[in-house]
Amino acid sequence: MIEVDLHLHTTHSDGALTPAELVSLCGNRGLKVIAVSDHDSTDGILEALGAAKEFPGMIVVPAIEMSTDIPGAEVHILGYFVDYLDVNFQRTLRELRDGREDRARGMVKRLSKLGFPVSWDRVEALSGGGAIGRPHIARAMVEAGYVEYPRDAFDKFIGRNGPAYVERTKLEPVEAVRMLLSNRALPVVAHPTYVSTKTGADNIADLWQVLTELKEAGLVGLEVYYGDYSSDQVSTLSNLADQFGLIPCGGSDYHASGNPSEPEPGMVGPPMESFEALLALSNTDP
Ligand code: AMP
Ligand code: ZN
Ligand code: FE
Ligand code: FE
Repeated sequence: MIEVDLHLHTTHSDGALTPAELVSLCGNRGLKVIAVSDHDSTDGILEALGAAKEFPGMIVVPAIEMSTDIPGAEVHILGYFVDYLDVNFQRTLRELRDGREDRARGMVKRLSKLGFPVSWDRVEALSGGGAIGRPHIARAMVEAGYVEYPRDAFDKFIGRNGPAYVERTKLEPVEAVRMLLSNRALPVVAHPTYVSTKTGADNIADLWQVLTELKEAGLVGLEVYYGDYSSDQVSTLSNLADQFGLIPCGGSDYHASGNPSEPEPGMVGPPMESFEALLALSNTDP
C-alpha cells in the first residue's frame, strides 16, 4: 500500500488538475503524504494545504521542481519544504517562468514554419497563467489533430532532438541545488534514468559524476521509486542512493497528462521512512 507520493504537478505548471482536485484524488486513494512539486512555481501550494484539511492526518509537503541542463540531457531537481514566502526565491522563479514563456513562443513559431501552426493564445490558455511548458504545446497539437497523444508531439516535434525544440534558459544542476539550499529547501535529483512512458527522454549519461558534484554541494536525496521504473531500475537506484548517502525518494510525477498508461498517484512512491528522513532534515539547522 503506497502512502507517500513526493512528485505531483498541478495547473500551476503542466499538470491538468487544480491543486484541490489533485489533493482530493490523492486523499481518496489513501495517500497520507504528498508533495505538490510544480515546475518553477510554488503557487499551487496554499490551495493544496487548504484542500488537505478535508483529509484529516494528510500532510502536504511544499515543493518545487527546477529544470536544469547538462550537455545532452536534462537534470530536474526537486526541492522539499520550500519556503514559498522567500521573496528572492520568488523573483528567481518569476524569471524562470518568463524564460519558459519566451521559449514556448519560439517553439510555436517553429511549429508554424514546419507547417503545423498552433495558436499562441490557445497554448497560453492551456497553461492557465502558470509555468508554461512543452506539455501545453503538446496538448494544443492534440486539439489541432496533428498528433493522437501529447507524447507523440514530443516524439515528432518538441523532444530534445525534435525539429521544433528550443532550448531553455541555461541553468546548471549545481546552481539549482544552491538556490534551493539558500531557500532552506531540501534538494533531491528527480527521475535519474530513462522513463519508458516518456519516450525520447534521455538518460543522464554520467549520473555518477553528476551525483558526486551535487552531493558535495548539499544534495540530500535521489528519486528511486518513480513513475514506471522497473524493479531493476529501482534496485539499481536504491543501491546508488545508499552509496551516496542520499535519501531514496520518489513519486508518480502525475500530470493527468492524457498520455496512455501514465502512472497515477498511489501507484508508486517511497516508504514512509524516506519522508520521515526528509522531515528530520528539514528541522535541523544547516
Ligand atoms: P518543459 O518543462 O517545457 O521542458 O517540459 C518538460 C515536461 O514535459 C516534463 O516535465 C514532462 O511533464 C513532459 N515530458 C517530457 N518529455 C516527454 C515525453 N517524451 N512525452 C510526454 N511528456 C514529456
Ligand atoms: Zn512536467
Ligand atoms: Fe521532471
Ligand atoms: Fe515532474
